[in-house]
Amino acid sequence: MNFLKLTVIAAVMASATMGVKSATTDNSLQTPQVIAHRGFWKSEGAVQNSRASLKAALALGVYGSETDVWITTDGHLMVNHDPTFDGVRLQDESSDICTALTLGNGEKMPQLFEELAIVSESGSPTKLILEVKDHGNRTNDVRAAKAAVAAVRAAGLQDRVDYISFSTDACETIIAEDPDARVGYLKGGFAPAELHKKGYSSIAYHMNELRNNPAWVKEAHDLGMKVNVWTVNTPEEMAEMRDKGVDYITTDDPLTLISILEK
Ligand code: MG
Repeated sequence: MNFLKLTVIAAVMASATMGVKSATTDNSLQTPQVIAHRGFWKSEGAVQNSRASLKAALALGVYGSETDVWITTDGHLMVNHDPTFDGVRLQDESSDICTALTLGNGEKMPQLFEELAIVSESGSPTKLILEVKDHGNRTNDVRAAKAAVAAVRAAGLQDRVDYISFSTDACETIIAEDPDARVGYLKGGFAPAELHKKGYSSIAYHMNELRNNPAWVKEAHDLGMKVNVWTVNTPEEMAEMRDKGVDYITTDDPLTLISILEK
C-alpha cells in the first residue's frame, strides 16, 4: 500500500473518530493546488506579469502561473495587469507601442505568444492561468477572447491553459470558440449551477464570495466544477480556504502557501 493511500485512510479514520465536520466543509480530503498570482514575482529579478515571474513559477512546479492580457488595436495580446502602463492605455495602442514599454526589471512588456512559448519549452507541468481582462467594452472583450483561444491553439497548449475573466462576454466567447476549454468566472454573484448551464468549468471567486455563500464549494463539486479562490496571502486565510475544500488557491506568496499546505 502506498503512502498516499495510508495518508488518506488515516485522515478518514481521524475524521470519523472526531465526528466533527461542519456542514459547510467539503469532505473530499484533497489538498488544494497552488496558483502563483501574476507569476512568482517575489523571486529574484522578477516583477508581476514578466517572463521572469512566469519562469520562476514554472521552476517551482506549482499547478498554475496566472497572467493577465489586454488586446491592442492591431489584435496582439499584451501581458499586463492594469489597463494603462506608463500612461499608455494598452487597448488603445498598437503592439509596436506596447512592446516598447519597459517593466520594472528591465524586460520589455511580453506578449501572450511569448509566454506560451516559455510554457511550451519549459518541461514544467505548471499551467498558464490566462486572465482575459475586462476591457470595459464588449467588442474588445470578444476580440481578446478569440485571440487568446487562437494563440493557445496555435501553440498546441490547450491542455496547459485554464482561462479566467471578470467579463462574461470574454468567458462565453472562449467557451463558444473551444467547448473543451476550462473557463472560470472571477467576479462572483452567480451560483455554480448558473455558470455550469453556460459551460463554465469553475468558479474563481474572491474569498468573501465563498465566505458569504458557504454552500457553493459543495454545489460546484457536485456539478463536477472546480473552485479557485483569490487572492489568498496570509497564513490564516490560506488555512481557512484549504479547510473550505477549494481546488485551487491563488496567491502572491506561493512559498508560504506551499508550507501551509504541507502541514
Ligand atoms: Mg489577474
